[in-house]
Amino acid sequence: MSSLTFLGAAGTVTGSKHLLEVGGRRVLVDCGLFQGLKELRLRNWEPLPREPSQIDAVVLTHAHLDHCGYLPRLVASGFRGRVFCTPGTKELCSLVLPDSARLQEEDAREANRHGYTKHSPALPLYTSVDAARALDRLQPVGYDRPIPLVEAPTRVGPVSDPRAGTGTVPTVEFINAGHLLGSAYARIRVGERTILFGGDLGRFGRPVLPDPSPVSEADYLLLESTYGDRLHEKDDRGDRLAQIVVDTAQRGGKLIVPSFAIGRVEEVLYWLKRLEDEKRIPILPVYVDSPMAIGALQFYSERLGELDPELNSTPGARHVAAFATTRMVMVSSPQQSADLVASRQPAIVISSSGMATGGRVLRHLAASLPGPRNTVLFVGYQAAGTRGRALTDGATEVKLLGRVVPVAARIERLDSMSAHADADEIMRWLSGFTRPPRTTFLVHGEPAALSALASRIGTDVRWTVHIAAHQERVPLDVG
Ligand SMILES: [Zn+2]
Repeated sequence: MSSLTFLGAAGTVTGSKHLLEVGGRRVLVDCGLFQGLKELRLRNWEPLPREPSQIDAVVLTHAHLDHCGYLPRLVASGFRGRVFCTPGTKELCSLVLPDSARLQEEDAREANRHGYTKHSPALPLYTSVDAARALDRLQPVGYDRPIPLVEAPTRVGPVSDPRAGTGTVPTVEFINAGHLLGSAYARIRVGERTILFGGDLGRFGRPVLPDPSPVSEADYLLLESTYGDRLHEKDDRGDRLAQIVVDTAQRGGKLIVPSFAIGRVEEVLYWLKRLEDEKRIPILPVYVDSPMAIGALQFYSERLGELDPELNSTPGARHVAAFATTRMVMVSSPQQSADLVASRQPAIVISSSGMATGGRVLRHLAASLPGPRNTVLFVGYQAAGTRGRALTDGATEVKLLGRVVPVAARIERLDSMSAHADADEIMRWLSGFTRPPRTTFLVHGEPAALSALASRIGTDVRWTVHIAAHQERVPLDVG
């Protein structure tokens, strides 16, 4: 009996892990970390219901940590198969997995130093060595090329299996989802049947990333529901961003933009470059102060062909030039970063982390928040409990780097740069299906978003919808 077991991102938005058992094989689609509330994070420490050594292969839809960040733990726990993903996902994983391991190691060190742990000593969820071993297992596969999922890494390079296509060996194919560089839906085919793992769905008509590819059919569909109950702000062609840059420049201040290092930085740079080209903002130095963002920007620049076609049609668009503002500076060394923090010159500084929970942006905030000439602009979702949330909620002071910092700078927020489809965009994508899936499983959403999307699909297209529950196992009529 074939089945699907939801091991994460069921009733919540992190920890994506779906175990497909078919024809005696076990394939884990996505291998994400639970993040956010402690109750969820503790799940990262619980054993999986299947021994990792009994899982034949892993398939990754994209390189966000909630989809790939558990991989080092899986490998450390005995997984020995291949991890299939697109080349872009492999590249971004080479940045995010070692970084995640460093953070896990730091957390464990902090817990031991301050003694706030029941465990003695506290251990990291995984180490930098585990992350390196996980990266060794990644097997890149280009878009739109179905390949067989086989158990053992017998040799490097394209694989062939005589059982492929005979109905006993499932194949996987990646289709561009337009959500992040390398992001994909994973279409797994078993004989005549297909199961489409939607991963995270991108947006229509946005810069940098292409629209989500249309799909016309699937027997089973896993659909993300992050914004299943909401609509994004309408695109304003950069008006608010232009206003914020102009106002800050007129006050002679700095504009600090805390940003996720991967994906968001590219969109912020795209808009700044476009506003400069259209002479809607003054030409200011733009500093990218995040080693991970600089690495990601390089990968984006080398894969323009997988991005929005508009980027390729920009005259002279080659490599980093596609994102380069007139006076862009990459800040790599800690000393350069410290000099920039100390500088009082008007400038735009893009630095991570996006919710001001760590990273180089903390020093920029400590230096800039007390100055009324400066602006801090948040460009992503700000989770409860983060400094970013406190600031956007109007905090008059924040604790930063061990001291209390007064807030006199302007705090702004732009919500239009989300990388997830909203409810209308999800429905637009579903409208490309020529026949309804037997079942559409809703995953990757909070309860309110899941039930709103379920009822909308029920009314608008009348498909059979099932909201996945954590650790639920459902039978599939395949192979
Ligand atoms: Zn994602």
